[in-house]
Amino acid sequence: MIKVCKFGGTSMADGMTMLRVKEIVERDPARRYVVVSAPGKRYSGDYKVTDLLYETDRDVKEGGHVGEAYAKIADRFRSIGKELGLSLDVSALLEETARAIEKRRSRDFTASRGEYLTGRIMAELLGVPFLDGAEVIRFRQGRLAEEETDRLLRAALKGKPRAVVAGFYGADEEGNVVTFSRGGSDVSGAVVARAAGAELYENWTDVSGFLACDPHIVAGPKQIKSLSYKELRELSYMGANVLHSEAIFPVREAGIPVRILNTFRPEDEGTLIVPSARYEYGDLPVTGIAGKKDFTVVFLEKSLMNAEIGFAHKVLTVLRRHGVSFEHMPSGIDTMSFVIDSAELGGGVLEEIEREIEEAVSPDSLRVFGGIALIAVVGHGMSSKVGIAARLFSAIARAGVNVRMIDQGSSELNIIVGVENEQYERTVRAIYEEFFREG
Ligand code: ASP
Repeated sequence: MIKVCKFGGTSMADGMTMLRVKEIVERDPARRYVVVSAPGKRYSGDYKVTDLLYETDRDVKEGGHVGEAYAKIADRFRSIGKELGLSLDVSALLEETARAIEKRRSRDFTASRGEYLTGRIMAELLGVPFLDGAEVIRFRQGRLAEEETDRLLRAALKGKPRAVVAGFYGADEEGNVVTFSRGGSDVSGAVVARAAGAELYENWTDVSGFLACDPHIVAGPKQIKSLSYKELRELSYMGANVLHSEAIFPVREAGIPVRILNTFRPEDEGTLIVPSARYEYGDLPVTGIAGKKDFTVVFLEKSLMNAEIGFAHKVLTVLRRHGVSFEHMPSGIDTMSFVIDSAELGGGVLEEIEREIEEAVSPDSLRVFGGIALIAVVGHGMSSKVGIAARLFSAIARAGVNVRMIDQGSSELNIIVGVENEQYERTVRAIYEEFFREG
């Protein structure tokens, strides 16, 4: 049995937590490969090493040398080295890293040094080999080259029963370091899990898994014990971000389940994410509720729209020209609407799009509503039960909320409800009460 464990920034925050991690790893002999993030916050208001590295990149580009931000990073790693009593010469490693940052002047290289240094330290602490992300994770044209990475990783892991891998970065074919987007160590963990042929990908963080809804809106929501990759995708995409959204794909393809676990409460069961085929239906039809404010709906109406060939294509071409993506496209026989993240429409983009759509398809009417919040109600259990939508909309009606938009995914896995921003919290609470409160 092989488990790959990825530890996030708060699990790497200082020497004490690293010792905790060592204990967790050594408690289970199946935990053979460990993927690490850079040190995160120790307390609220603290800094993350990766943020200081981005500052260091600016310092080097302005003044040629690492500056104050790097001094803080060096202090942090030196005190970790002292706490752990390592034989590794952390000061020399920091010195060498500073010179490499100044020489390469690459934003991605600089940003990756948090994971590199943490990986070196953890490998020493666990007494296992260190694998540099640049050697085993390949990027082409800025994107992860999956097959090549898989090949490189398999070759590197062969003959190594245990190892520590630095998360967050890889390199292109010329050896230039390339990072994933923020939080990308989750993706590194997923590709290592696939290449190692792991039975389980453990993602260790500072929460005990997923909650059924935002705890800032509902006090003490239920913990989600298990959910499918598809459900997670619907939920995380809407903002319930515990796991990097791209981390799902490599493990999903290989059918490897992911367990979200808490380094600070290791006995908690956490949340298990499984392939849909292995999904076990719970008693509740709804698995989770997620949502986000500030969407804009562009609504179009035109008689006989359904018979006009290429109508949608012309509208989509306008969006594409502006590099604007849409989240949903609810439509009727003579109507069509696009739900777009309002952040994409600032700086006059919305007005230009309106004008170009008018020109392209001459709609009878074109209306725009801003300030819309979307709420995704997600659960495989909804598709096999009658009356879920009735319960959902009755609960929303009882809360006195007017529904501005409805979109039911074709898989019946989710129902998306659009309401005014101001009604967002109230609607989430009403839905939670309806589906999760007992008695
Ligand atoms: N350290 C990186 C970040 O802060 C990557 C990661 O933690 O996954 O985004």
